[in-house]
Amino acid sequence: MTVLWAPWRMEYILSDEKGGPCIFCPGDDRGQDAERLILYVDSFGMVMMNKYPYNNGHLLAAPVRHVSELEFLSKKEMLDLLDLVRKSIAALKKVMNPEGFNVGLNLGRAAGAGVEEHMHFHIVPRWNGDTNYMAVVGAVRVIPEHIQETYGKLLPLFQNIKKDSGGDT
Ligand SMILES: [Zn+2]
Repeated sequence: MTVLWAPWRMEYILSDEKGGPCIFCPGDDRGQDAERLILYVDSFGMVMMNKYPYNNGHLLAAPVRHVSELEFLSKKEMLDLLDLVRKSIAALKKVMNPEGFNVGLNLGRAAGAGVEEHMHFHIVPRWNGDTNYMAVVGAVRVIPEHIQETYGKLLPLFQNIKKDSGGDT
């Protein structure tokens, strides 16, 4: 069995939105969240779906603050971010029944970061035998239909998190 250690490295290759506004800065306008594939925002962190996923259900968790390095985060931000990674995994387990996860950070362009100015965790659900997924699908552009469908399934779970925690931790 082939274990692919860093599937999120596809990000840089596939990203075609260089120079636009930072996709990880949630801003104050929650009306654009569905279009931006944002699932969750609280005071310190946010979760969104990757528009250029390696696998269906590929999520990204970032601090709300525009920072590039892990060591720039406060303890509160770090705890919130890791908590969002945990909640993302829990939500994906409920909706997609993955058999494993790749979770990781690309810090710096040399490490494959597509948006190196705003650090973010990748949470990639994995299934046995999915390592050839990209090859099988052929064109990455096929995936967006799945993204919208998965977004619709994941959103209620993240809305429940918000209710449970009062939107904060
Ligand atoms: Zn940002």
